[in-house]
Amino acid sequence: MDFNNFFVPADEKHVKKEKEKAREMRKSQWWKNRCGEALCYYCKAKFSPKELTLDHVVPIIRGGKTTKGNCVPCCKECNSQKKYLLPIEWQEYLQKLQKDSKDHLK
Ligand SMILES: [Zn+2]
Repeated sequence: MDFNNFFVPADEKHVKKEKEKAREMRKSQWWKNRCGEALCYYCKAKFSPKELTLDHVVPIIRGGKTTKGNCVPCCKECNSQKKYLLPIEWQEYLQKLQKDSKDHLK
């Protein structure tokens, strides 16, 4: 038993395994249905299904898994924001998106 697993959020093996599962997930009917809605999970904008990428809500590198609950369709813009922003900045970005979409409703 590797006790390091309790302290290290994600090791290389986990990342590799979950990335592999994500590849399978992209081919699944479930994923095609998700993309069929053509909405970005984060900014709620409409895209064509091929513009959407599979995003892990909890990133694999932080211990997130490739499960249906953790995989969402995400546009390239949000995807790259998520990659480059710190978690706290990403939260602010999401809050801003929510605020913007509320403004649209007014
Ligand atoms: Zn988006």
